[in-house]
Amino acid sequence: MTEPIDPVVMNADEARRVPDRQESPVEHTQDVADTADTAEPAAVADPAQKVYDFAVIGGGIVGLATAMSLLRERPGASLVVVEKEDGVARHQTGHNSGVIHAGIYYKPGSHKAKLCKEGAVRTREFCDEHGIPYRNTGKLIVATDDVELERMNALHERALVNELDVEKIDGAELRRREPNITGVGAIWLTSTGIVDYTQVCRKMAEVIEHAGGTIRLSTKVTDITESLSEVRIDVESAGGSGRHAAPTAAPEGSSDASGRERMYARKLVVCGGIQADRLATLAGLDVDFQMVPFRGEYYRLPPSRNDVVSTLIYPVPDPELPFLGVHLTLMMDGGVTVGPNAVMGFAREGYPKWSTNARDIKDFVTFPGFWKIAKAQLKTGAVEQWNSVYKPGYLDLVRKYCPLLTTKDLTPEEAGIRAQAVRKDGTMVEDFLFYSTDRMLHVCNAPSPAATSAMPIGDLIADKVLTGA
Ligand SMILES: Cc1cc2nc3c(=O)[nH]c(=O)nc-3n(C[C@H](O)[C@H](O)[C@H](O)COP(=O)(O)OP(=O)(O)OC[C@H]3O[C@@H](n4cnc5c(N)ncnc54)[C@H](O)[C@@H]3O)c2cc1C
Repeated sequence: MTEPIDPVVMNADEARRVPDRQESPVEHTQDVADTADTAEPAAVADPAQKVYDFAVIGGGIVGLATAMSLLRERPGASLVVVEKEDGVARHQTGHNSGVIHAGIYYKPGSHKAKLCKEGAVRTREFCDEHGIPYRNTGKLIVATDDVELERMNALHERALVNELDVEKIDGAELRRREPNITGVGAIWLTSTGIVDYTQVCRKMAEVIEHAGGTIRLSTKVTDITESLSEVRIDVESAGGSGRHAAPTAAPEGSSDASGRERMYARKLVVCGGIQADRLATLAGLDVDFQMVPFRGEYYRLPPSRNDVVSTLIYPVPDPELPFLGVHLTLMMDGGVTVGPNAVMGFAREGYPKWSTNARDIKDFVTFPGFWKIAKAQLKTGAVEQWNSVYKPGYLDLVRKYCPLLTTKDLTPEEAGIRAQAVRKDGTMVEDFLFYSTDRMLHVCNAPSPAATSAMPIGDLIADKVLTGA
Protein backbone atom coordinates (compact mmCIF):
# COMPACT_ATOMS: atom_id res chain seq x y z
CA MET A 1 0.00 0.00 0.00
CA THR A 2 2.14 2.92 -0.75
CA GLU A 3 1.83 5.93 -2.85
CA PRO A 4 -1.46 7.15 -4.22
CA ILE A 5 -3.58 4.24 -3.32
CA ASP A 6 -6.80 4.93 -5.10
CA PRO A 7 -7.36 1.78 -7.04
CA VAL A 8 -8.94 2.83 -10.28
CA VAL A 9 -12.46 1.67 -10.87
CA MET A 10 -11.83 1.08 -14.47
CA ASN A 11 -14.81 -0.77 -15.80
CA ALA A 12 -18.14 -2.01 -14.63
CA ASP A 13 -16.78 -5.44 -13.81
CA GLU A 14 -13.97 -4.13 -11.75
CA ALA A 15 -16.18 -1.53 -10.18
CA ARG A 16 -18.11 -4.37 -8.62
CA ARG A 17 -14.93 -5.76 -7.09
CA VAL A 18 -13.57 -2.47 -5.84
CA PRO A 19 -15.99 -0.90 -3.40
CA ASP A 20 -17.00 2.60 -4.42
CA ARG A 21 -14.60 4.90 -2.64
CA GLN A 22 -16.05 7.58 -0.52
CA GLU A 23 -15.60 10.83 -2.37
CA SER A 24 -16.40 13.35 0.26
CA PRO A 25 -14.35 14.19 3.30
CA VAL A 26 -15.48 12.72 6.59
CA GLU A 27 -15.74 15.24 9.35
CA HIS A 28 -16.32 14.64 13.02
CA THR A 29 -17.04 17.50 15.31
CA GLN A 30 -16.49 16.97 19.01
CA ASP A 31 -16.57 19.15 22.03
CA VAL A 32 -13.73 18.46 24.38
CA ALA A 33 -13.23 21.89 25.92
CA ASP A 34 -16.42 21.65 27.93
CA THR A 35 -16.38 17.98 28.66
CA ALA A 36 -12.70 17.13 29.04
CA ASP A 37 -12.19 15.25 32.22
CA THR A 38 -9.15 17.14 33.28
CA ALA A 39 -7.65 17.61 36.67
CA GLU A 40 -6.45 20.96 35.40
CA PRO A 41 -9.50 22.76 34.09
CA ALA A 42 -7.48 25.93 34.02
CA ALA A 43 -5.59 25.19 30.81
CA VAL A 44 -5.80 28.92 30.47
CA ALA A 45 -2.50 30.63 29.77
CA ASP A 46 -0.79 32.84 32.29
CA PRO A 47 -1.46 36.44 31.11
CA ALA A 48 2.31 36.89 30.66
CA GLN A 49 2.51 33.76 28.54
CA LYS A 50 2.65 34.05 24.77
CA VAL A 51 -0.40 32.61 23.08
CA TYR A 52 0.19 31.85 19.41
CA ASP A 53 -2.60 32.58 16.98
CA PHE A 54 -1.92 29.22 15.36
CA ALA A 55 0.06 26.12 16.23
CA VAL A 56 0.60 23.32 13.72
CA ILE A 57 1.83 19.94 14.86
CA GLY A 58 3.81 18.06 12.20
CA GLY A 59 6.65 19.19 9.97
CA GLY A 60 5.69 16.93 7.08
CA ILE A 61 4.53 18.47 3.82
CA VAL A 62 0.88 18.72 4.91
CA GLY A 63 1.66 20.59 8.14
CA LEU A 64 4.09 22.91 6.39
CA ALA A 65 1.72 23.65 3.51
CA THR A 66 -1.01 24.41 6.05
CA ALA A 67 1.26 26.76 8.00
CA MET A 68 2.23 28.57 4.79
CA SER A 69 -1.39 28.96 3.83
CA LEU A 70 -2.41 30.26 7.29
CA LEU A 71 0.32 32.90 7.19
CA ARG A 72 -0.62 33.89 3.65
CA GLU A 73 -4.24 34.34 4.70
CA ARG A 74 -3.41 36.04 8.02
CA PRO A 75 -0.21 38.00 7.49
CA GLY A 76 1.31 39.05 10.77
CA ALA A 77 -0.35 36.27 12.75
CA SER A 78 1.88 34.39 15.20
CA LEU A 79 2.36 30.74 14.28
CA VAL A 80 4.49 27.86 15.44
CA VAL A 81 5.14 24.53 13.73
CA VAL A 82 6.06 21.81 16.23
CA GLU A 83 7.99 18.83 14.89
CA LYS A 84 9.46 16.04 16.98
CA GLU A 85 12.32 15.17 14.62
CA ASP A 86 15.43 17.28 14.16
CA GLY A 87 14.50 18.13 10.58
CA VAL A 88 11.39 18.51 8.45
CA ALA A 89 10.05 15.74 6.17
CA ARG A 90 11.56 12.90 8.20
CA HIS A 91 8.67 10.49 7.82
CA GLN A 92 6.28 9.84 4.93
CA THR A 93 7.24 13.01 3.06
CA GLY A 94 10.94 12.20 3.05
CA HIS A 95 10.50 8.52 2.24
CA ASN A 96 8.35 8.65 -0.85
CA SER A 97 8.92 8.10 -4.57
CA GLY A 98 9.33 11.80 -5.28
CA VAL A 99 6.75 11.79 -8.03
CA ILE A 100 4.67 14.82 -8.97
CA HIS A 101 1.56 12.95 -9.95
CA ALA A 102 -0.71 14.04 -12.77
CA GLY A 103 -3.94 12.69 -11.27
CA ILE A 104 -4.80 10.00 -13.83
CA TYR A 105 -6.08 7.48 -11.30
CA TYR A 106 -8.80 9.51 -9.66
CA LYS A 107 -12.48 9.63 -10.38
CA PRO A 108 -13.22 12.60 -12.65
CA GLY A 109 -14.60 15.53 -10.69
CA SER A 110 -13.53 14.06 -7.36
CA HIS A 111 -11.71 15.98 -4.66
CA LYS A 112 -8.60 13.92 -5.21
CA ALA A 113 -8.54 14.51 -8.97
CA LYS A 114 -8.88 18.27 -8.55
CA LEU A 115 -6.39 18.54 -5.68
CA CYS A 116 -3.80 16.46 -7.50
CA LYS A 117 -4.07 18.42 -10.73
CA GLU A 118 -3.89 21.76 -8.97
CA GLY A 119 -1.18 20.49 -6.61
CA ALA A 120 1.02 19.39 -9.50
CA VAL A 121 0.85 22.88 -11.02
CA ARG A 122 1.47 24.63 -7.71
CA THR A 123 4.36 22.36 -6.74
CA ARG A 124 6.12 23.33 -9.97
CA GLU A 125 5.30 27.02 -9.45
CA PHE A 126 6.75 26.84 -5.92
CA CYS A 127 9.89 25.15 -7.25
CA ASP A 128 10.25 27.76 -10.01
CA GLU A 129 9.81 30.58 -7.54
CA HIS A 130 12.40 29.20 -5.13
CA GLY A 131 14.91 27.63 -7.49
CA ILE A 132 14.19 24.02 -6.49
CA PRO A 133 15.08 21.58 -9.26
CA TYR A 134 12.43 19.25 -10.64
CA ARG A 135 12.09 17.32 -13.88
CA ASN A 136 9.15 16.87 -16.20
CA THR A 137 9.91 13.25 -16.96
CA GLY A 138 6.50 12.07 -18.12
CA LYS A 139 5.39 8.54 -17.37
CA LEU A 140 4.45 5.36 -19.22
CA ILE A 141 1.79 3.04 -17.84
CA VAL A 142 2.57 -0.29 -19.47
CA ALA A 143 0.14 -3.14 -20.18
CA THR A 144 1.76 -6.55 -20.48
CA ASP A 145 -1.21 -8.71 -21.48
CA ASP A 146 -4.75 -8.45 -22.80
CA VAL A 147 -6.37 -8.13 -19.39
CA GLU A 148 -4.11 -5.22 -18.53
CA LEU A 149 -4.70 -3.76 -21.97
CA GLU A 150 -8.42 -3.63 -21.29
CA ARG A 151 -7.81 -1.90 -17.95
CA MET A 152 -5.34 0.42 -19.60
CA ASN A 153 -7.96 1.45 -22.14
CA ALA A 154 -10.37 2.27 -19.33
CA LEU A 155 -7.66 4.28 -17.64
CA HIS A 156 -7.07 6.14 -20.89
CA GLU A 157 -10.76 7.04 -21.04
CA ARG A 158 -10.59 8.32 -17.50
CA ALA A 159 -7.50 10.40 -18.32
CA LEU A 160 -9.36 12.04 -21.20
CA VAL A 161 -12.30 12.92 -18.95
CA ASN A 162 -9.79 14.30 -16.42
CA GLU A 163 -8.48 16.46 -19.30
CA LEU A 164 -4.94 15.15 -19.03
CA ASP A 165 -2.49 15.19 -21.89
CA VAL A 166 -2.25 11.48 -22.73
CA GLU A 167 -1.34 9.36 -25.70
CA LYS A 168 -2.05 5.69 -26.26
CA ILE A 169 0.76 3.78 -27.95
CA ASP A 170 1.16 0.17 -29.11
CA GLY A 171 3.84 -2.35 -28.16
CA ALA A 172 6.06 -1.52 -31.14
CA GLU A 173 6.03 2.19 -30.40
CA LEU A 174 6.70 1.43 -26.73
CA ARG A 175 9.76 -0.61 -27.72
CA ARG A 176 10.92 2.21 -30.00
CA ARG A 177 10.69 4.76 -27.21
CA GLU A 178 11.95 2.55 -24.39
CA PRO A 179 14.02 -0.31 -25.85
CA ASN A 180 14.33 -2.06 -22.46
CA ILE A 181 10.60 -2.13 -21.79
CA THR A 182 8.20 -4.67 -23.21
CA GLY A 183 4.43 -4.56 -23.28
CA VAL A 184 1.43 -4.85 -25.56
CA GLY A 185 0.59 -1.18 -25.20
CA ALA A 186 1.06 1.84 -22.98
CA ILE A 187 -0.30 5.21 -22.00
CA TRP A 188 2.13 8.09 -22.27
CA LEU A 189 1.32 10.77 -19.73
CA THR A 190 3.24 13.98 -20.23
CA SER A 191 2.44 15.87 -17.03
CA THR A 192 4.13 13.58 -14.48
CA GLY A 193 7.35 14.83 -12.96
CA ILE A 194 9.83 14.23 -10.17
CA VAL A 195 11.13 16.37 -7.32
CA ASP A 196 12.86 15.95 -3.97
CA TYR A 197 10.05 16.63 -1.49
CA THR A 198 12.52 17.02 1.40
CA GLN A 199 14.04 19.94 -0.45
CA VAL A 200 10.55 21.36 -1.05
CA CYS A 201 9.81 21.09 2.68
CA ARG A 202 13.04 22.77 3.73
CA LYS A 203 12.13 25.69 1.51
CA MET A 204 8.58 25.75 2.90
CA ALA A 205 10.07 26.00 6.40
CA GLU A 206 12.16 28.98 5.26
CA VAL A 207 9.10 30.64 3.74
CA ILE A 208 7.21 30.15 7.02
CA GLU A 209 10.04 31.68 9.03
CA HIS A 210 10.34 34.51 6.57
CA ALA A 211 6.65 35.25 7.07
CA GLY A 212 7.21 35.47 10.83
CA GLY A 213 6.40 31.86 11.79
CA THR A 214 8.50 29.74 14.12
CA ILE A 215 9.63 26.18 13.39
CA ARG A 216 10.34 24.18 16.54
CA LEU A 217 12.28 21.03 15.66
CA SER A 218 13.17 18.21 18.08
CA THR A 219 10.03 19.12 20.02
CA LYS A 220 7.63 16.29 20.70
CA VAL A 221 4.05 16.98 21.67
CA THR A 222 3.19 14.95 24.75
CA ASP A 223 -0.18 16.36 25.72
CA ILE A 224 -2.91 18.59 24.34
CA THR A 225 -5.60 20.26 26.44
CA GLU A 226 -8.29 22.46 25.00
CA SER A 227 -9.97 25.13 27.09
CA LEU A 228 -12.59 27.65 26.11
CA SER A 229 -10.02 30.32 25.24
CA GLU A 230 -7.01 28.40 23.90
CA VAL A 231 -5.26 25.08 23.48
CA ARG A 232 -2.38 24.10 25.72
CA ILE A 233 0.31 22.01 24.09
CA ASP A 234 2.78 20.24 26.35
CA VAL A 235 6.03 19.40 24.63
CA GLU A 236 9.29 17.74 25.40
CA SER A 237 12.27 19.02 23.50
CA ALA A 238 15.47 17.14 22.82
CA GLY A 239 18.04 17.51 25.48
CA GLY A 240 15.56 16.83 28.24
CA SER A 241 15.47 13.38 29.69
CA GLY A 242 11.99 11.94 29.67
CA ARG A 243 12.84 9.53 32.47
CA HIS A 244 13.76 12.27 34.87
CA ALA A 245 11.18 14.72 33.72
CA ALA A 246 9.65 17.08 36.23
CA PRO A 247 5.94 16.51 36.82
CA THR A 248 4.93 19.97 35.69
CA ALA A 249 5.84 21.46 32.37
CA ALA A 250 7.55 24.82 32.35
CA PRO A 251 6.14 27.75 30.40
CA GLU A 252 7.41 28.24 26.87
CA GLY A 253 10.84 29.71 26.59
CA SER A 254 11.79 28.43 30.02
CA SER A 255 11.91 24.70 29.52
CA ASP A 256 12.87 22.83 32.66
CA ALA A 257 15.85 20.51 32.95
CA SER A 258 13.81 17.70 31.44
CA GLY A 259 13.16 19.73 28.29
CA ARG A 260 9.46 19.96 29.07
CA GLU A 261 7.60 23.13 28.32
CA ARG A 262 4.14 24.42 27.57
CA MET A 263 2.85 26.30 24.58
CA TYR A 264 -0.51 27.90 24.00
CA ALA A 265 -2.37 28.62 20.80
CA ARG A 266 -5.78 29.99 19.93
CA LYS A 267 -6.13 27.44 17.13
CA LEU A 268 -4.35 24.15 16.77
CA VAL A 269 -3.99 22.12 13.57
CA VAL A 270 -2.62 18.60 13.89
CA CYS A 271 -0.97 17.03 10.83
CA GLY A 272 0.78 14.15 12.55
CA GLY A 273 0.75 11.57 9.75
CA ILE A 274 1.08 8.07 11.18
CA GLN A 275 0.72 9.39 14.75
CA ALA A 276 -2.60 11.12 13.99
CA ASP A 277 -4.68 8.69 16.05
CA ARG A 278 -2.44 9.03 19.10
CA LEU A 279 -2.38 12.82 18.88
CA ALA A 280 -6.17 12.89 18.60
CA THR A 281 -6.46 10.62 21.64
CA LEU A 282 -3.99 12.79 23.57
CA ALA A 283 -6.29 15.71 22.85
CA GLY A 284 -9.22 13.86 24.37
CA LEU A 285 -10.98 13.01 21.10
CA ASP A 286 -12.89 9.82 20.74
CA VAL A 287 -11.74 8.34 17.44
CA ASP A 288 -12.95 5.21 15.69
CA PHE A 289 -9.86 4.51 13.63
CA GLN A 290 -6.26 3.53 14.09
CA MET A 291 -3.15 4.02 12.00
CA VAL A 292 -1.73 0.81 10.63
CA PRO A 293 1.77 1.01 9.13
CA PHE A 294 2.28 -0.34 5.64
CA ARG A 295 5.86 -0.56 4.50
CA GLY A 296 6.65 0.46 0.96
CA GLU A 297 9.91 -1.30 0.25
CA TYR A 298 12.21 -0.14 -2.50
CA TYR A 299 15.35 -1.29 -4.22
CA ARG A 300 17.74 0.90 -6.18
CA LEU A 301 19.34 -0.08 -9.49
CA PRO A 302 23.14 0.12 -9.60
CA PRO A 303 24.52 3.26 -11.30
CA SER A 304 25.38 1.18 -14.39
CA ARG A 305 21.60 0.80 -14.92
CA ASN A 306 20.69 4.46 -14.47
CA ASP A 307 19.89 4.79 -18.16
CA VAL A 308 17.77 1.64 -18.35
CA VAL A 309 14.74 3.86 -18.93
CA SER A 310 14.29 7.50 -19.85
CA THR A 311 10.95 8.03 -18.13
CA LEU A 312 8.93 6.64 -15.21
CA ILE A 313 7.53 3.16 -15.90
CA TYR A 314 4.40 2.04 -14.05
CA PRO A 315 2.39 -1.15 -14.43
CA VAL A 316 -1.35 -0.92 -15.00
CA PRO A 317 -2.77 -0.99 -11.46
CA ASP A 318 -4.43 -4.20 -10.36
CA PRO A 319 -7.88 -3.31 -8.98
CA GLU A 320 -7.47 -6.09 -6.41
CA LEU A 321 -4.56 -4.21 -4.86
CA PRO A 322 -4.89 -0.89 -3.10
CA PHE A 323 -1.66 0.56 -4.53
CA LEU A 324 -0.12 1.37 -7.86
CA GLY A 325 2.24 -1.56 -8.25
CA VAL A 326 6.03 -1.77 -8.32
CA HIS A 327 7.38 0.84 -10.69
CA LEU A 328 10.68 2.15 -12.02
CA THR A 329 11.17 5.72 -10.84
CA LEU A 330 13.83 8.15 -11.92
CA MET A 331 15.12 10.07 -8.93
CA MET A 332 16.42 13.62 -8.75
CA ASP A 333 19.88 12.30 -7.83
CA GLY A 334 20.06 10.51 -11.19
CA GLY A 335 19.37 7.05 -9.78
CA VAL A 336 16.47 4.71 -10.47
CA THR A 337 14.39 3.08 -7.74
CA VAL A 338 12.27 -0.03 -8.04
CA GLY A 339 9.15 -0.22 -5.91
CA PRO A 340 7.42 0.26 -3.65
CA ASN A 341 5.54 -2.85 -2.61
CA ALA A 342 3.09 -2.81 0.32
CA VAL A 343 3.59 -5.01 3.36
CA MET A 344 2.26 -4.61 6.83
CA GLY A 345 4.90 -3.21 9.16
CA PHE A 346 5.68 -3.88 12.82
CA ALA A 347 6.84 -0.36 13.64
CA ARG A 348 5.25 2.95 12.69
CA GLU A 349 8.58 4.71 12.33
CA GLY A 350 11.09 1.88 11.99
CA TYR A 351 12.52 1.92 8.47
CA PRO A 352 15.03 -0.97 8.40
CA LYS A 353 13.56 -4.36 7.50
CA TRP A 354 12.27 -6.32 10.49
CA SER A 355 11.94 -3.18 12.62
CA THR A 356 9.62 -3.79 15.54
CA ASN A 357 8.07 -1.59 18.17
CA ALA A 358 6.28 -3.21 21.08
CA ARG A 359 3.75 -0.38 21.55
CA ASP A 360 2.91 -0.28 17.84
CA ILE A 361 2.44 -4.04 17.68
CA LYS A 362 0.33 -4.09 20.83
CA ASP A 363 -1.85 -1.29 19.47
CA PHE A 364 -2.65 -2.97 16.22
CA VAL A 365 -3.08 -6.52 17.46
CA THR A 366 -5.62 -5.31 20.00
CA PHE A 367 -7.47 -3.29 17.36
CA PRO A 368 -10.40 -5.15 15.75
CA GLY A 369 -10.01 -3.28 12.43
CA PHE A 370 -6.53 -4.70 11.98
CA TRP A 371 -7.75 -8.31 12.07
CA LYS A 372 -10.54 -7.48 9.66
CA ILE A 373 -8.20 -6.07 7.02
CA ALA A 374 -5.68 -8.81 7.68
CA LYS A 375 -8.43 -11.36 6.94
CA ALA A 376 -9.76 -9.48 3.91
CA GLN A 377 -6.27 -9.16 2.43
CA LEU A 378 -5.01 -12.58 3.43
CA LYS A 379 -4.10 -13.73 -0.08
CA THR A 380 -2.66 -10.48 -1.46
CA GLY A 381 -0.96 -9.78 1.87
CA ALA A 382 0.71 -13.20 1.88
CA VAL A 383 1.97 -12.73 -1.69
CA GLU A 384 3.33 -9.28 -0.83
CA GLN A 385 5.05 -10.62 2.30
CA TRP A 386 6.57 -13.46 0.30
CA ASN A 387 7.90 -11.11 -2.36
CA SER A 388 9.24 -8.88 0.38
CA VAL A 389 11.53 -11.62 1.68
CA TYR A 390 12.10 -13.49 -1.60
CA LYS A 391 13.96 -11.18 -3.97
CA PRO A 392 13.26 -13.20 -7.15
CA GLY A 393 9.54 -12.85 -6.41
CA TYR A 394 9.89 -9.08 -6.11
CA LEU A 395 12.01 -9.04 -9.27
CA ASP A 396 9.29 -10.83 -11.25
CA LEU A 397 6.98 -7.87 -10.64
CA VAL A 398 9.31 -5.59 -12.52
CA ARG A 399 10.66 -8.11 -15.02
CA LYS A 400 7.15 -8.34 -16.40
CA TYR A 401 7.88 -5.12 -18.24
CA CYS A 402 11.67 -4.77 -17.87
CA PRO A 403 13.00 -8.30 -18.53
CA LEU A 404 16.70 -7.49 -18.60
CA LEU A 405 16.89 -6.82 -14.85
CA THR A 406 18.35 -9.49 -12.57
CA THR A 407 18.40 -9.95 -8.79
CA LYS A 408 21.90 -8.41 -8.78
CA ASP A 409 20.31 -5.18 -9.98
CA LEU A 410 18.20 -4.88 -6.84
CA THR A 411 20.36 -3.12 -4.30
CA PRO A 412 18.96 -2.09 -0.90
CA GLU A 413 17.17 1.22 -0.52
CA GLU A 414 15.38 2.63 2.52
CA ALA A 415 11.68 1.86 2.79
CA GLY A 416 8.82 4.31 3.27
CA ILE A 417 5.97 3.73 5.71
CA ARG A 418 2.51 4.73 4.76
CA ALA A 419 0.03 5.89 7.37
CA GLN A 420 -3.10 3.89 6.65
CA ALA A 421 -6.09 4.88 8.74
CA VAL A 422 -8.27 1.82 9.35
CA ARG A 423 -11.67 1.94 10.99
CA LYS A 424 -12.84 -0.46 13.65
CA ASP A 425 -14.95 -2.24 11.03
CA GLY A 426 -11.82 -2.92 8.96
CA THR A 427 -12.43 -0.40 6.18
CA MET A 428 -9.49 1.62 5.00
CA VAL A 429 -10.01 5.37 5.03
CA GLU A 430 -9.39 6.63 1.51
CA ASP A 431 -10.45 10.26 1.73
CA PHE A 432 -9.96 13.16 4.09
CA LEU A 433 -10.77 12.42 7.68
CA PHE A 434 -11.06 15.43 9.96
CA TYR A 435 -11.88 15.65 13.62
CA SER A 436 -12.60 19.13 14.85
CA THR A 437 -13.52 20.98 17.99
CA ASP A 438 -13.91 24.70 18.59
CA ARG A 439 -10.17 25.25 18.65
CA MET A 440 -8.62 22.17 17.06
CA LEU A 441 -8.58 20.56 13.67
CA HIS A 442 -7.03 17.11 13.51
CA VAL A 443 -6.17 15.97 9.99
CA CYS A 444 -6.42 12.26 10.52
CA ASN A 445 -6.13 11.29 6.90
CA ALA A 446 -4.93 13.38 3.98
CA PRO A 447 -5.42 11.24 0.91
CA SER A 448 -2.53 10.33 -1.32
CA PRO A 449 -0.86 11.68 -3.30
CA ALA A 450 -0.67 14.23 -0.52
CA ALA A 451 2.87 15.29 -1.39
CA THR A 452 1.80 16.37 -4.88
CA SER A 453 -1.48 17.85 -3.61
CA ALA A 454 0.00 19.44 -0.48
CA MET A 455 -0.44 23.10 -1.42
CA PRO A 456 -4.18 22.95 -2.19
CA ILE A 457 -4.64 20.58 0.76
CA GLY A 458 -2.94 23.21 2.95
CA ASP A 459 -5.36 25.83 1.61
CA LEU A 460 -8.33 23.60 2.27
CA ILE A 461 -7.23 22.94 5.86
CA ALA A 462 -6.42 26.62 6.49
CA ASP A 463 -9.83 27.58 5.13
CA LYS A 464 -11.51 25.17 7.52
CA VAL A 465 -9.52 26.58 10.44
CA LEU A 466 -10.26 30.19 9.53
CA THR A 467 -13.90 29.83 8.64
CA GLY A 468 -14.76 27.01 11.00
CA ALA A 469 -16.41 25.32 8.00
C1 LIG B 1 6.30 4.74 0.14
C2 LIG B 1 5.53 5.98 -0.20
C3 LIG B 1 5.63 6.54 -1.48
C4 LIG B 1 4.90 7.69 -1.79
N1 LIG B 1 5.09 8.29 -3.01
C5 LIG B 1 4.49 9.47 -3.26
C6 LIG B 1 4.80 10.18 -4.45
O1 LIG B 1 5.65 9.78 -5.24
N2 LIG B 1 4.13 11.34 -4.70
C7 LIG B 1 3.20 11.83 -3.83
O2 LIG B 1 2.61 12.88 -4.11
N3 LIG B 1 2.91 11.19 -2.66
C8 LIG B 1 3.56 10.05 -2.36
N4 LIG B 1 3.32 9.42 -1.17
C9 LIG B 1 2.36 10.02 -0.23
C10 LIG B 1 2.98 11.20 0.51
O3 LIG B 1 4.36 11.04 0.77
C11 LIG B 1 2.25 11.42 1.83
O4 LIG B 1 0.85 11.43 1.58
C12 LIG B 1 2.63 12.75 2.49
O5 LIG B 1 4.03 12.85 2.60
C13 LIG B 1 1.97 12.87 3.86
O6 LIG B 1 2.50 14.02 4.50
P1 LIG B 1 2.14 14.35 6.01
O7 LIG B 1 2.69 15.69 6.30
O8 LIG B 1 0.67 14.12 6.20
O9 LIG B 1 2.84 13.21 6.88
P2 LIG B 1 4.34 13.05 7.37
O10 LIG B 1 5.31 13.41 6.31
O11 LIG B 1 4.46 11.67 7.91
O12 LIG B 1 4.49 14.12 8.54
C14 LIG B 1 3.91 13.98 9.82
C15 LIG B 1 4.85 14.65 10.80
O13 LIG B 1 4.26 14.73 12.09
C16 LIG B 1 5.30 14.61 13.04
N5 LIG B 1 4.77 14.20 14.35
C17 LIG B 1 4.07 13.08 14.63
N6 LIG B 1 3.80 13.01 15.95
C18 LIG B 1 4.34 14.13 16.52
C19 LIG B 1 4.40 14.62 17.86
N7 LIG B 1 3.89 13.95 18.89
N8 LIG B 1 5.03 15.81 18.08
C20 LIG B 1 5.57 16.52 17.05
N9 LIG B 1 5.56 16.07 15.76
C21 LIG B 1 4.94 14.90 15.49
C22 LIG B 1 6.19 13.52 12.43
O14 LIG B 1 7.49 13.49 13.00
C23 LIG B 1 6.16 13.89 10.96
O15 LIG B 1 7.25 14.72 10.59
C24 LIG B 1 4.03 8.28 -0.82
C25 LIG B 1 3.94 7.72 0.46
C26 LIG B 1 4.70 6.61 0.78
C27 LIG B 1 4.64 6.07 2.18
